Amino acid sequence: MRCSSCEAPAIVDQPYRGAHVCAEHFRESVEDRVRREMHAQLPRFGRGTIAVALSGGKDSAVALVLSHQYFRRRPTVRIVAISVDEGIAGYRPATLDAAARLTRSLGVDHRIVRASDELGTTTDATARELATTVPCSYCGVWRRKLLNQGARAEGADALVLGFNLDDLAQTVLMNLVRGDLDRLVRMAPHRLRQPGLVPRVAPLSAVPEREVYLYAHLRRIPFDHGECPYSGRASRNLFREIIWQLEEAQPGTRQSLLRTHRRLVERWLADESIGAPGRCRACGEPSASELCRACEYLRIAQGPSEAVGAT
Ligand code: SF4
Ligand SMILES: [Zn+2]
Ligand SMILES: [Zn+2]
Repeated sequence: MRCSSCEAPAIVDQPYRGAHVCAEHFRESVEDRVRREMHAQLPRFGRGTIAVALSGGKDSAVALVLSHQYFRRRPTVRIVAISVDEGIAGYRPATLDAAARLTRSLGVDHRIVRASDELGTTTDATARELATTVPCSYCGVWRRKLLNQGARAEGADALVLGFNLDDLAQTVLMNLVRGDLDRLVRMAPHRLRQPGLVPRVAPLSAVPEREVYLYAHLRRIPFDHGECPYSGRASRNLFREIIWQLEEAQPGTRQSLLRTHRRLVERWLADESIGAPGRCRACGEPSASELCRACEYLRIAQGPSEAVGAT
């Protein structure tokens, strides 16, 4: 099979646009999409600090490498990587090692925020306490909070996430199915500026997961292949499966969901009642309700008095 744009052999097919692509054109097409997203989500950004959430997996590793590449000619922009150690034995230490290797090779500052220090608990400890609760429910909420705090402590103007097209499509569908329009409008990439929340940008949001993996592989970007021991229990898995089936039956479904999200956000940008949270009364972080979800989970895990003290 030849590349749709040149005579070189194709290494990947892109059914959503009816094309086969060679290594050279594939690399270009990923970098183009990321550049366009970066430009659209962070217009005219030429001075300040960009924090990149770095788990050590493929998506965040590619997001860091491409953010670094995007800003390399702007010495007035500082890049800092932020990793969260949720405390998951047998998984997180190896990903943190991979993250440290990558930041060293790029010469990028690296801050590690630990749940044990900041929250007084870990995902492992809470999983033992709350055996019937899916760990991703609190772990994800805590990680978002710690990333926001870490980015704020670095004085970051934006927080880059490694969300790829599949992640975005799954999240849009999950929020639609749950009828959670508020969260749908507030999800990254952020168009709404929310007080206390470092705006999140998602430059990989137009690149399918499979292509992020291939790109990391082609550029030999170091990342950890490990899988979290709790990931099998995530409700997201069902949506991942559904999106795959839809995409196979109807190529381009993921891009349609992304466009749907963008149009909805455009329409609702003027409506101040949506996506304008207040502050959590316990920790002061942005929250749509009196107590943020991170503190709610801490309260369940540790009891009300400790939860307020720990944050
Ligand atoms: S898969 Fe779930 S438990 Fe594991 S790190 Fe991610 S959010 Fe946390
Ligand atoms: Zn080609
Ligand atoms: Zn809180």
